Amino acid sequence: MEDAFKIIDQSEKILILSHRNPDGDTIGANLALHNVLAVNGKQVISACADQIPFSLVFLPGSSKILINLPDDKPDLIITVDASSPAQLKYENIITTIQKKDIPVLNIDHHATNKKFGTENLVDVNAASTTEVLYNFFKFMEIGITPQIATCLLAGLYSDTGSFMHSNTSRSSFDIASDLMSKGASLSFIIENMFKTHTVEQLRLWGRVLENARKNKNGSIVSKVTQSDFDETQSSPRDLTGIINYLNSVPNTKMTILLAEDTKGNVKGSIRTQNNKIDATKISGKFGGGGHAKAAGFTIPGKIISEEVWRIEKLD
Ligand code: 5GP
Ligand code: MN
Repeated sequence: MEDAFKIIDQSEKILILSHRNPDGDTIGANLALHNVLAVNGKQVISACADQIPFSLVFLPGSSKILINLPDDKPDLIITVDASSPAQLKYENIITTIQKKDIPVLNIDHHATNKKFGTENLVDVNAASTTEVLYNFFKFMEIGITPQIATCLLAGLYSDTGSFMHSNTSRSSFDIASDLMSKGASLSFIIENMFKTHTVEQLRLWGRVLENARKNKNGSIVSKVTQSDFDETQSSPRDLTGIINYLNSVPNTKMTILLAEDTKGNVKGSIRTQNNKIDATKISGKFGGGGHAKAAGFTIPGKIISEEVWRIEKLD
């Protein structure tokens, strides 16, 4: 944390980057850090290669997150919740990080983190990147405003699946309680993150639920194709949240949701409630990453439907 503090202290122009397909953790972390650094006199730009979902627009300062990067070169890049440079999706940034042209502070909690930064503030025991930041802000003795508290709690809420995933610990509740005492609005978070579905999104979710199958090996698999998005007038970001419903069948190995995107890729999301299964072992086979209980990957391709028919002989 001291080294992370030093590298920030020595910089003026700071670019904070969230990962592609952004979630509450990467956006909450980005905005909380943006707020703290801007108040401390830094020139801060926040960006994410993909548009943030509607459900996160309520987060204080969300309009500050740009999609297109300004030409101006930063003197420090901070990545939040990204396990590898590829997760940032900006080609020029990926190259910059690989060439080590600009110092990088990598703040994350993924066990699969590639430690690609000049400094790496990675705590794999933290339930969210916002938990890592919470500890960092405490270390730096930074006053947490209600806005910052809301961003941090949103990340914790998001990555613990509303305190339902197995990464939820006593410290998750301690931190949540402290953030609430500092003015985080839980009702605001719940209203905005969980009660903001559109009819198009519900119709897409209907397709996901209808397509769910249990494999011979005891996994639940569902899929959405490009035509599902077209016919329900929805988009891939409308999938956020549905996998938690799929991942609710007892005694299954894991749950996999496959979704096509417009660029000819298939995105796989993996969840498991099974203690014996490490989801990153499966996502890793397809070049992805994530956490033991929640992981993902993206590969070029299309989804094909495979139905097997057989005749059962009658006596
Ligand atoms: P989701 O299924 O919600 O998109 O992702 C679940 C977890 O896996 C998240 O922590 C996410 O960051 C990670 N993840 C998803 N896709 C990829 C990927 O292509 N590469 C890596 N390294 N991690 C991924
Ligand atoms: Mn996270």
